[in-house]
Amino acid sequence: MASYTTLADLVEQGVAGKRVLVRSDLNVPLDGPADQKVITDDGRIRASVPTIRTLAEAGARVVVTAHLGRPKGAPDPAYSLRPVAARLGELLGRDVRFARDTVGESAHEVVHGLEDGQVAVLENVRFEAGETSKDDAERGAFADRLASLAELFVSDGFGVVHRKQASVYDVAQRLPHAVGGLVQAEIEVLRRLTVEPDRPYVVVLGGSKVSDKLGVIDNLLGKADKLLVGGGMVFTFLKAQGHEVGKSLLEEDQVEVCREYLQRAAESGVQLILPTDVVVDTAFPSGDVTPSPQVVAASEIPADSLGLDIGPESARAFAGALVGARTVFWNGPMGVFEVDAFADGTRAVAQALTEVTADGGLSVVGGGDSAAAVRTLGFAEDAFGHISTGGGASLEYLEGKELPGVRVLEDD
Ligand code: ADP
Ligand code: MG
Repeated sequence: MASYTTLADLVEQGVAGKRVLVRSDLNVPLDGPADQKVITDDGRIRASVPTIRTLAEAGARVVVTAHLGRPKGAPDPAYSLRPVAARLGELLGRDVRFARDTVGESAHEVVHGLEDGQVAVLENVRFEAGETSKDDAERGAFADRLASLAELFVSDGFGVVHRKQASVYDVAQRLPHAVGGLVQAEIEVLRRLTVEPDRPYVVVLGGSKVSDKLGVIDNLLGKADKLLVGGGMVFTFLKAQGHEVGKSLLEEDQVEVCREYLQRAAESGVQLILPTDVVVDTAFPSGDVTPSPQVVAASEIPADSLGLDIGPESARAFAGALVGARTVFWNGPMGVFEVDAFADGTRAVAQALTEVTADGGLSVVGGGDSAAAVRTLGFAEDAFGHISTGGGASLEYLEGKELPGVRVLEDD
């Protein structure tokens, strides 16, 4: 097994008085005009606090770098990290300095003004084109400037470790580095899902990013005992079985792939469970129309309708298939849970996962919307074994891909 220098190792070696650059994932949803942004869900900031606090308490001079949204490689006030830095300060219970640029004059001034145990946040790292550049030299040149601000690097932004970006990847090649507490915790859980998981091992997939997630199915067909498919992905499978799906979400070019998965599942003895009934409506829910949900057989979706949730019979079947599971990974809501009329399937699966947890099994929820769903539907976070902060990163790991931001931290 790969070995890493952990945060605990680093603290034991002594960080007092050292400038430590921490890559965190502070990419939170914001609302409102540029100068009055309100953070609508601070989950990722909360998740970043323990590593930053550990370093500060050990006397390090902590320099946090992170991105927010997708600015186009140049400063854009709508994506400033300033309000995020303020929230981090509140959560830490410490004064947090803010640098108005990422590697410029302000950054140097703030970083070199830090005393032991103090924390600074650098402005949005994606204001610099070098951060996400595909050109190794351009990315490297920016990483040099970032690395020059500190003596040590801690990688703690799990949501970005699948990206080969300057603040995630290249900077780790330039500074002695350690894996942060959050990244370590996430990887340990993912490992339990891939290396000899306790069985039965059930995977539940849904959501709307169908083609993104088919790769996971490919990899899991050989590993999971049961695969439950809900959400927008269902209809490409139903089409592959020869059914008409009306106006439902459909990825025509993936029908053949789904047909192959159905066949492989049948041959390998993996139970691939699809809904037998679906909740349909004649329009995608929007603010102006009152939903008129109708339950139909999955094989009989009317031409003028679209499927928006798994039906009640399917919800019971999915919950039943989760009883007795020892390991569960769930990514992607079963329906358009944002609207009450289409939230029952997602609620039933979430409830079943909490029962797996209560029975001593490991239940993992991955994906931004899935995590939001369990919170919105009123489930307590500790009713699940783990709620992952990084959807894309956890999916790529489960697909069997190497995460560049993790690989680069391994000791040779
Ligand atoms: P995650 O962020 O958990 O990985 P996705 O981003 O793939 O999940 O998908 C989440 C979205 O999928 C939700 O906004 C939900 O409304 C939508 N969704 C679920 N079921 C359907 C469906 N049948 N048709 C269209 N959209 C759906
Ligand atoms: Mg999503």
